[in-house]
Amino acid sequence: MESYDAIVVGAGIAGLGVGSLLQDKGLKTAVFEKSKVVGGRSRTFELPGGWRIDMGTHCVDQGIHSSCNKLLRVLGKEIPWSHNLEGFMFYDEDGTWKPMMEYLNLTAVEKQELLDLQKWIGAATDEIIDHYDNVSLTKLLDEKVKSSKIAEFCKTVGMVQTTLTESDIISAGEFIHIYRDQIRVSVSPDLPFNAVRMPLGGVATMMAAMEAAYRERGGTLNLGTPIRKVNVRKGRMTEVVTDEGAYSAPVVVIAAPIWNVLRFLSMDEMAQFAPAWAKRMKESEFETSASTGFTIGTRAPLFNDKCYLSAWRIPGVGLPLQILGHTNFDDTIAPPGHMIAFIGACGTPAQIGNAEFRKKTLEQFWEVVKKMFPNVERDLVWRQDGFTIGIDGLSRSPGMTGRYRLPVFLPEVPGLYFAGDCYTGRGVGMNTAASSAMICAEEILARQGR
Ligand SMILES: Cc1cc2nc3c(=O)[nH]c(=O)nc-3n(C[C@H](O)[C@H](O)[C@H](O)COP(=O)(O)OP(=O)(O)OC[C@H]3O[C@@H](n4cnc5c(N)ncnc54)[C@H](O)[C@@H]3O)c2cc1C
Repeated sequence: MESYDAIVVGAGIAGLGVGSLLQDKGLKTAVFEKSKVVGGRSRTFELPGGWRIDMGTHCVDQGIHSSCNKLLRVLGKEIPWSHNLEGFMFYDEDGTWKPMMEYLNLTAVEKQELLDLQKWIGAATDEIIDHYDNVSLTKLLDEKVKSSKIAEFCKTVGMVQTTLTESDIISAGEFIHIYRDQIRVSVSPDLPFNAVRMPLGGVATMMAAMEAAYRERGGTLNLGTPIRKVNVRKGRMTEVVTDEGAYSAPVVVIAAPIWNVLRFLSMDEMAQFAPAWAKRMKESEFETSASTGFTIGTRAPLFNDKCYLSAWRIPGVGLPLQILGHTNFDDTIAPPGHMIAFIGACGTPAQIGNAEFRKKTLEQFWEVVKKMFPNVERDLVWRQDGFTIGIDGLSRSPGMTGRYRLPVFLPEVPGLYFAGDCYTGRGVGMNTAASSAMICAEEILARQGR
């Protein structure tokens, strides 16, 4: 049986990150990826005619200050980035798009309230954030906010951060954490979300750099090779099994999302050694977020704003709205003068998983899109309708963020580790995956005294 110092399951951000960091310290590693390409959920697809479409928006929160960029730098990689996001635009009841402050139309007292709230968030310590991890955003807003306009704004921000649809199910700790770290790198309090960027050429640019980093370090990357079974016997890692055979390693890092893990890691087996963990793993499987909507290519820009376009509720649809004109940040991904836009509605996994609900929602949603962008049908080149369940890992609900997250290692099963956006790590999806990779590699190396 071929053996390695460490085997990694999955070649997304987390898997390639852990693999490279372990190679750096002299471990002989192999990454097994079921797909024929790297990237996992952070992937770019090409359409004939010069279109490059990210799976979803793939905005990197905090851009060059992000955990993703920190990981790239540790791996000695620089990638080209778009310019910064220029804040939020909101869809108003009167059918127009308005910049954040104009939409909020705050009184002097409310403006002060928003500034005070941002000041409090900006100064929040990690201990305060830990305290709020098990508190809902609704409760935080009841505690801290009087103005209903500011409360709605915060709910929209929380939704954009977490893709969760109600403030009751958004963790206040995660809301404060992401907001705080944004404030610290933003240019103005009126633009609290300006430090968001996209890799130029799509998220594939970032993943290509990570793949190169892993290969340059001598790692063995096995694409198109699903792991069928991770065997844990008598509480110890034994082997991983592929269609071609079994491989052994004292360390196995599962860098696949939790809903995949339960297919190849037996929870009955795990329950003998770590019953509480196995129970939580099973319970968490469907605790995630979901969205549906359209990716469209148009022959002329529908809008030129370099902003996140949003609304707490889409009129007539009742779900939160997220829109991004990707080509307004990156004109390398479409034919000259053309636009790629992502137009999404967040929903619960139960809603989005229901084909009838989805069909009705997409029909109603498209009617609203036509009102929002009157030229959309005239200029449409292509439209892809889609949906995703499991956008950025485990949901960031009260009691599921920070120290409540599933750990990157289990003391009960030496050698078994986890990395990715379902496990310890904070922030918007890709940043959770990147930070979790760094935390996981550190844990493995510390346990080996390296
Ligand atoms: C539509 C959409 C939009 C998004 N938008 C954003 C955004 O704007 N900003 C942001 O920060 N994040 C966004 N995300 C989230 C982001 O894509 C993820 O958080 C990130 O890619 C997670 O990386 P990961 O390495 O943890 O997991 P993944 O990317 O899921 O990688 C896991 C890998 O494991 C592999 N795997 C699974 N099972 C097996 C097996 N049995 N054997 C071998 N390999 C296996 C998978 O094929 C996959 O390649 C979005 C996600 C989606 C789906």
